Amino acid sequence: MPQPTHSTREQARAEITRGTFDLLVIGGGILGTSVAWMATQAGLRVAMVDAGDFAGATSSASSKLVHGGLRYLQTGNVKLVAENHRERRALAGRVAPHLVNPVPFLVPVYKGGPHGATKMAAGVFLYSALSAFGDGLGRVVSPAHARRLAPGLKTDGLKTVATYHDHQMNDSRMAIMTVRAAVEAGAVALNHARVVGLRTTHGKVTGAELRDGVTGEEFGVDARLVLNATGPWVDHLRRMEDPGAAPSVRLSKGVHLVLRTDHPWHAALTIPVDKYRVSFAIPWEGRLLLGTTDEEYTGDPAEVGVLQQDVDQILGEAGTAIDAAHIAPDRIGYAFAGLRVLPGGTGGTSAAKRETVVTRGRGGMLSIAGGKWTTYRHIGRLVIDRLRKERSVPLAEDMCPTLKTVPLPGLGQPEAVAHRLMVDQEPPTRMDPLVARHLASHYGSVSLDIAELVRSEPALGERIHPDGPDIWAQAVYARDQEWAVTVDDVLRRRTTVTVRGLDTQEVRDRTSALLGKVGG
Ligand SMILES: Cc1cc2nc3c(=O)[nH]c(=O)nc-3n(C[C@H](O)[C@H](O)[C@H](O)COP(=O)(O)OP(=O)(O)OC[C@H]3O[C@@H](n4cnc5c(N)ncnc54)[C@H](O)[C@@H]3O)c2cc1C
Repeated sequence: MPQPTHSTREQARAEITRGTFDLLVIGGGILGTSVAWMATQAGLRVAMVDAGDFAGATSSASSKLVHGGLRYLQTGNVKLVAENHRERRALAGRVAPHLVNPVPFLVPVYKGGPHGATKMAAGVFLYSALSAFGDGLGRVVSPAHARRLAPGLKTDGLKTVATYHDHQMNDSRMAIMTVRAAVEAGAVALNHARVVGLRTTHGKVTGAELRDGVTGEEFGVDARLVLNATGPWVDHLRRMEDPGAAPSVRLSKGVHLVLRTDHPWHAALTIPVDKYRVSFAIPWEGRLLLGTTDEEYTGDPAEVGVLQQDVDQILGEAGTAIDAAHIAPDRIGYAFAGLRVLPGGTGGTSAAKRETVVTRGRGGMLSIAGGKWTTYRHIGRLVIDRLRKERSVPLAEDMCPTLKTVPLPGLGQPEAVAHRLMVDQEPPTRMDPLVARHLASHYGSVSLDIAELVRSEPALGERIHPDGPDIWAQAVYARDQEWAVTVDDVLRRRTTVTVRGLDTQEVRDRTSALLGKVGG
């Protein structure tokens, strides 16, 4: 049995109430986690808390792309594309090659569509040039070739197909691996712990009051500096600091649908919808991920959800480039919604810049919101630079230089790990190749610990649902090593059971029993 590498929830709670932290990060989405990871690497004592699960909000509701962002060329944001490409290549090459996978993209150009063939060919060429042609040349391919890669591609009225390369990931698993990296570096992390108020000393924010979502208990944490990384809730926290704080951001809702496919897709489609917007059809986890919408949202972030009109819009937009049989509504197994945080302003949200907003409140709390998943390390570094310059609470004297590239836990070649998983074990515990490949590409070499669980208790090698590759050992590992507390923590974010549409009542009941067994 692998030994627990992380402190238990009780230990984290006890640690959080002990002494004064250099930095308290409120919000355990990917941006908060990135700052916690880097600040810990710089030598600070860091605590990070989240009201729900780590990556339980926007960071598990993205399009799962690690990308330069072809459509930003349309808004003239060439610098952003080049910066995104740099981070994409660093993540795929050095930081997380076990979790980030290449995917070819096809852009179909139809008669009467929003962009012409020449412009699109020039666009993908420029896009690949901004990544120094590191993934080959953006070019044009024949409709017949494109259809072999994307079986549902509509060929009626198709003039040409442009291609380029980007990467994709499983966002919630990548976020959990980043939390693990932060904790291994020395951060204290606690999920299901909501900040319900801020602590102040002489008008300066010096900590927070929290409510434990599991026990209902209230407790506090002291810190020299507090960072608000609560994504769509950023202004809510800013108003805790200053009830008169003006809004700093606006929100835009994005919905995705996950569809079953009859045949594997080997390429994604980027479907131009209008001058600025595109819709994606992306092969992901053996399914087809469709989306996304982009509508200004003014409601309570906790209430964001998928409406019938979102489903109709996504299927309608996909239908301009995909044959109807491939996107029939009965293929939808799961749908989810998230909120983009955009800089305040007017005009349509789809043309708004995807920039990070950093503000400092009158109580000294720093707030950070917006930007891309792809550039999370870059955004983390921006905040670290800001911390070094912070005058009211001098942290720079306690900060060391950080390493430029630190890999995520489990770094390893997925094929090699999958091979080990298959050959290491004797029948009957020898791992099914599908399960082995799934574990290797979601945990890297950490999956050897999961294999160890199966070796000590072979029943844990059973699939959670016969139609998916996740096994019960992952649920045990999630509970004991990955801070999973609720059924959704396990099925939606640590494994792929929910996004595949396989979280039946029986699966949920078994998971609940498994979590309850150790008082989780
Ligand atoms: C539809 C959509 C598609 C996207 N697709 C892509 C993509 O393909 N590629 C890409 O690079 N980027 C993409 N993005 C952008 C990317 O997902 C976001 O930039 C990123 O996830 C933002 O992370 P975050 O940590 O700021 O926010 P969040 O993940 O929302 O984290 C904020 C956290 O704060 C917590 N919180 C709130 N209030 C409190 C409180 N009182 N106490 C404690 N915790 C609290 C919440 O529970 C939440 O977990 C997409 C975004 C959307 C919406």
